[in-house]
Amino acid sequence: AKASGRNNYQFFAENMNVAAARHFELETSLRGALERGEFTLFYQPIVCTRDRRVHGMEVLLRWRRPGHGLVAPDDFIPMLEENGLIVAVGEWVIRTACEQAMAWQRAGLAPVPLAVNLSARQFMHRGLIDAIRRTLDETGLAPSMLEFEITETALMQHGRQTLETLAQISNMGIRLSIDDFGTGYSSLAYLKRFPVHKIKIDRAFVRDLESSSEDRAIVAAIMALAGSLQLTVVAEGVETQAQLALLREHGCALAQGYLFAKPDEAGRAAQMLA
Ligand code: C2E
Ligand code: CA
Ligand code: CA
Ligand code: CA
Repeated sequence: AKASGRNNYQFFAENMNVAAARHFELETSLRGALERGEFTLFYQPIVCTRDRRVHGMEVLLRWRRPGHGLVAPDDFIPMLEENGLIVAVGEWVIRTACEQAMAWQRAGLAPVPLAVNLSARQFMHRGLIDAIRRTLDETGLAPSMLEFEITETALMQHGRQTLETLAQISNMGIRLSIDDFGTGYSSLAYLKRFPVHKIKIDRAFVRDLESSSEDRAIVAAIMALAGSLQLTVVAEGVETQAQLALLREHGCALAQGYLFAKPDEAGRAAQMLA
């Protein structure tokens, strides 16, 4: 028993070394990724559930990691958050999105707001408001053409400072959405306190809409709440006609998902705006 315990330990230790090495390698290549220009933005349309007209675009970060292809944000954003690089990368995201919006406008495409995701760490960062203001100034984009998405969990983390930052963003004329609504530690009181304009129903409630009466009840409750607070609702992760039909029945105005378009690079996403 003792011997096998020791083997297990050795096995465990080796795996730990592999994991640590991989972690280190990832962190090292991530540190230089911004300077090497390896980040890129994808865009996914947010459409009207009635006529499918494009109402906005969500901006989604991708990393073209040499030798690894296109890496999805869930595989590297947690590390950017951990080491603080998310602040610099996040500023790059905001700037690049604003430049893209201006380029599309100059090309004569229908102007729609771009929705940029903000993580908790960025949101806490003191320089955020200045960076946003400077970027709007320098790119010339109207604040009404920019939106931010923040998760419930990020919002709930830091009381008064959060409220101030939200107010500053809102006073600039930038709209705010609550992302992944319903998955976090929900305190409905904040909906009234915070200057938010939209809520995004998390994909988890949309996926089984057809088969789950509980999920339909949750969506109905969110719609009722949003209605009484005059918030616009966006449903995430819509993949089927049946989901779309149910969402429309529930009075959901906007939707986003593979049914309409997958996130794509700027050139192809622009075809949705033509
Ligand atoms: P999110 O904000 O909830 O973004 C929606 C995610 O759902 C995206 O994943 C999108 O590609 C995916 N999606 C859209 N429609 C469908 C669908 O019909 N079915 C399915 N299965 N998935 C769909 P993605 O691009 O991998 O992004 C993951 C998360 O990474 C985002 O979740 C967001 O929290 C974060 N993220 C992405 N870009 C940024 C960024 O620039 N900054 C920060 N801080 N976070 C970002
Ligand atoms: Ca989002
Ligand atoms: Ca979301
Ligand atoms: Ca999410």
